[in-house]
Amino acid sequence: MLENDKVNLPFKIIDLECSLYGELNLNNGTKIKLKGKIDRIDVKDNITRIIDYKTGTVKIKKLTEKNTDFYFDDMLENPDYKESFQGYFYAHLYKKLNPESNVIVGIYPMKKFKEGIMLINDEFITEETYTEFENHLIELINEIYDPSKKFTQTDDLKRCEYCPYKDICKR
Ligand code: SF4
Repeated sequence: MLENDKVNLPFKIIDLECSLYGELNLNNGTKIKLKGKIDRIDVKDNITRIIDYKTGTVKIKKLTEKNTDFYFDDMLENPDYKESFQGYFYAHLYKKLNPESNVIVGIYPMKKFKEGIMLINDEFITEETYTEFENHLIELINEIYDPSKKFTQTDDLKRCEYCPYKDICKR
């Protein structure tokens, strides 16, 4: 990793394994506390990079001009977006605390360090995109807290393989 980072100098690491906290207001007035633990935050060319180290295989779903209309809808439904969801969640937390910063998000795949940081967004995240993500996050958490909506088991058994809730859901 250091060899790879050396190629990309100069940049400045500003925090490692840093916990960030935030808050969201739900429709029913409930305040939800949010927390994220970010592996690394650095600054390169005046852009703040939120970086997550990943030990497993990484798939990146990028926001592009073509998928703008449905990207965040898909993100809430499709597990293939989990890295992107996590990245935007961290960026959202960071931006709330650092409103002046321009942020991009990247994954550092530990199995393929030589490939370097895989960016989830090529340009820094715009205000419009933060708002779009936040609206979807609020929608998701509202749904989780809605007592009229039941939790149901997934039909996709692959998702259950490493699920920490297997015991309580009796799958
Ligand atoms: S074990 Fe249960 S909670 Fe976990 S993914 Fe499967 S259905 Fe969902």
